[in-house]
Amino acid sequence: MADDRPPMSRPLRDLLYAMRHTGCALQHPELTKWQIIDDPQLEALAWHRGKHEADRTEGFDHLTEGRLQIAHVRTWPATKDLSRSYPRLIAERRFHCLDNVVLLCPEAHDLYDGAGIFSTDLMQTAARLTWTHPGARGPLLQYLRATVEARSGHQTENTNLLMAAEYLRHDHATDVQPIVRAFEARCRAAAQAIEQGDHTKVHRGDIAVFSMPRWAAQ
Ligand SMILES: [Zn+2]
Repeated sequence: MADDRPPMSRPLRDLLYAMRHTGCALQHPELTKWQIIDDPQLEALAWHRGKHEADRTEGFDHLTEGRLQIAHVRTWPATKDLSRSYPRLIAERRFHCLDNVVLLCPEAHDLYDGAGIFSTDLMQTAARLTWTHPGARGPLLQYLRATVEARSGHQTENTNLLMAAEYLRHDHATDVQPIVRAFEARCRAAAQAIEQGDHTKVHRGDIAVFSMPRWAAQ
């Protein structure tokens, strides 16, 4: 693990913790319909599904939630490399974006990170499908509120905020306009505070966003 790997924000960590009841992301039935899957992956997926079924049959199902691990679809060095032409904040956001994090049982995690049997495309699809699960609505709403209100110690994550709003709108038929308006109001307040030179009221993410146009013009 690279030493400069950015830490995960508390709202995102809380969100993933709240998502544990949706289970291991590689169990989604849609994954086997995905055309990118080749034979070795299908075989591994079938083994993986059988393992979870056996756990259920044997009564070990209740242990699954506690064993889930947070995995990243693309590693930090790969994300950093893909984003090397941009400020570091962009790489950090890509690394921790909702489509790059996924909850996996230890065996699925090993088959991806360790054995390299599951592909990045498959894992990316699993990550996206996670947020369409009916059980994702409550945690996504809670996450949006925590981020918009920028509660103490919480870092702004505009990328994930927009992604969460889009999943809620598109997959959970949720009206996110009030949250979007609250976020816009906060952005205006942050811009005003920066203009007045008062950085104490502004989060690091906001400062970086507002300084980006200046950086791009250089
Ligand atoms: Zn699993």
